[in-house]
Order: sequence, then C-alpha cells, then structure tokens
Amino acid sequence: MKTKHAFRVISCVLSLLIALSLLSCDVRKIPSKTESTEMPTEAKTEEKTQLEETTPDETATAAISSTSPESATETETETASETNETLTSEIETEAEITSTETSTESEVEETSTSLPSLEETTAVQTESETESSSETVAPHTHKSSKWIVDKEPTCKSAGSKHKECTDCKIVLETDTIEKLKTHREGTKQIEIEKGLFCGNSGEYSATVNCIDCGDIISVGKYELPKKHKMSNNVCEICGLPQSSTNGGMTFYLKPDGTYLVTTSSKAIDENIVIGVYNDISVTEINGGAFSERIDIKSITIAYCVTTIGEMAFYNCTSIKNVSIGNGVSEIPDETFWGCTSLRSVSLGDNIKTIGYRAFKGCSNLYYVYITGAYDWKLRSERGNTTTVYGSWIAKEDNRQGFAADYLLEYVAYKWTRK
Ligand SMILES: [Zn+2]
Ligand SMILES: [Zn+2]
Ligand SMILES: [Zn+2]
Repeated sequence: MKTKHAFRVISCVLSLLIALSLLSCDVRKIPSKTESTEMPTEAKTEEKTQLEETTPDETATAAISSTSPESATETETETASETNETLTSEIETEAEITSTETSTESEVEETSTSLPSLEETTAVQTESETESSSETVAPHTHKSSKWIVDKEPTCKSAGSKHKECTDCKIVLETDTIEKLKTHREGTKQIEIEKGLFCGNSGEYSATVNCIDCGDIISVGKYELPKKHKMSNNVCEICGLPQSSTNGGMTFYLKPDGTYLVTTSSKAIDENIVIGVYNDISVTEINGGAFSERIDIKSITIAYCVTTIGEMAFYNCTSIKNVSIGNGVSEIPDETFWGCTSLRSVSLGDNIKTIGYRAFKGCSNLYYVYITGAYDWKLRSERGNTTTVYGSWIAKEDNRQGFAADYLLEYVAYKWTRK
C-alpha cells in the first residue's frame, strides 16, 4: 500500500513537471512565431500587440527560460525582476530618461526587452538592439556573413563593405575597399566616315572611355572589316541593321556588306527601283521576291544588281515595263512567268542566258531590247546533253517584236549567248 501511494505521488509530480515544461515551451514559441515569414502582415501585427500586452514577467521568463529551461518559472521571474531593477537604473541613466514616475511594470518591460542583448557577449550597437528586440528575435550568438560589398570602388573613390549576422542582419563589421588603380573600360565608341560601311574600303576610329571618370583609355584607327560583325541584328562596327524595310521592300545585309532585296507584307510602290538603299548597293533580288505583287506597274533594276532569283516577278499581272541593268547576266527560269501585261523588256548588255519559261504567258510582250542579239542560240539542255535548235540572228534594223516572237514561241527552251 505504501509503495502504491508513493508511486501515485511520484506520477503526480511527474505529470505536473511535464505540464510545466510544455507551458514554458509554449511561451518560448511566441517569438519564433512572429518571425515566420509565411504569416500574413495582419496576423503578424496582432501577434505583436498580443506580445506587448502579455505581462512583462512572462516575456522575461521567456528570455531566461531559454537559457535555463529546467528551473522553476516562479524563481525565474523573481530573479529576472531583481536583475531587471538594477539594469533598469543603468539604462535609465544612459538613455537620460527624465520621467521618474515610470511605473514598475513599464520599467520591467523595458529591461526585459533589453535583456536578450545584454546576455550576449558580442558588442552590439544600441540602435539595432532596440530594433532587433522589438522584432522579437530570439537571443543567439551572431553568425557572421562573408564580406558584402556596399559600394564598388572606382578609379576616383574607395568602396565599402560590411559583414552582418546571417540571422538578424545586424552589421558586425565594416571596412573600406581600396580605390581602383586602373580605369574601368566603357563601351567602344565607333566613328565611321559617312557613307562608309563594312565591305567598303575605309577606316574607322574607336574610342574607349572609363565608365567612372570619362578619361579616354584608348583610341585606335582600324580598317573597315570585309564583313559585318552582327550582334542582335545590328552590325557592331558600322551600325547597320540586319534588315530594314522601305517602300514595301525589305533589305537584308549580305555577308559581303551589300543588300539582298525581297518584299515585306506592307503595300508596295507601283514603280519599283532596285539599286542603292542606305547608300549601300543592292546586289541580289531574292527568288520569288516580288511574285504575285499585282500592284507593281514597272521595275527598274540598276547596274549594281548582279543576281535575280528564280520566279522573282512570277505572276505580277500589272507590270508593263521592265528595265534590267548591265550587272545582270542571267534571267533565270520562270522569272516573268504570268506577267500578262508585260509589254517592254530591256535586258541589258551583259545578258548571257534566258532561262526556261522565263517569259511564259507574257502574251503582250512586244519590245525586247538586247544588244548584240545576233549570236543568240536556242538550246535545249537535258542533263549533260546540249542540243542546238537554231540561231536567233537579229536583222540589221532590229525589228521590234522580232525577239519577242522567238522568246514566246520557244518559251520552253533555254536561250544562251555564244
Ligand atoms: Zn544575430
Ligand atoms: Zn577612370
Ligand atoms: Zn558593318
């Protein structure tokens, strides 16, 4: 019986102790709760006000119980308030608080909030102390971060850096970063004489300034490169864009620095002149570039154009006149197929080939101007075999319509000049 009774007493005491330790745990949880970042701001402020409302004794208990959780709560509170009183007087004199009528409660509250930081061995600035304690950061030993740069050093001024506590962000150490001994390179400023671009022969000058002080670091004269140096669709050297659109035509920079022309989805001019754009020669007409643009009435191709792609003017049913410069040596296959309004074509002096079906369906074609038209041969080329069907010998008077007749009659053949 006696042992049973003793057992009961022991179990009672044990459960009381467990209950007590649970209670102290709950109290300690409060500060960490307020730290939680997931909690909405409203809830946070509520928690805070609750904290402020809780008796100062409790807060003190919380602070101390974390260092010695096993001691009884009552004794803790007593010791806390005892030490608090002495500490309060110290703090009061330091902070030069004039009011002597402060109630004991508020005194204790003040001291209890400063308690955690006083416990710490590391020197902490008074300003951040109040801040951190109001944020209810649990007392801890600061963990120092690596150096954090606040201000980069320049060639004119020193920089600054600091180390902070990785938990509470209190600044633990500050230092300066030595002024740079060298300038920092800014972007290259390039100047090119007007009208010069990559691919032209000529020079450009490049200047590099210091980002910080603006001093010139380097100046140089360079030969214009043979090819554009594209970066984000703009040439780094001459500043030309990879493509630009004007009058319904789009101009693409070729590696050699000249333009290839094609059409854009925009409305196109009635009378197209293909020659120089942006002071740069257009040398190539893309295959199918103007096909089915029924709004075009005439085309003038300047001497700088050397290449026309196949079907370039396919089914341009409104074109009446075409003039091709001396740079072009070949009218490729099906170039003017379906240009039913085409009346007059001037082919230029250097034409060597007229491709298969180049003028197919050009039922209105009448004027075809070709110089030296006397030695044209009509050939059929299949694989490696070339068959010569006949010659196109122009009469001395170069009768209008004569060449057109031949071209239309033998439209399925390829014409070549001897
Ligand atoms: Zn800290
Ligand atoms: Zn500088
Ligand atoms: Zn360029």
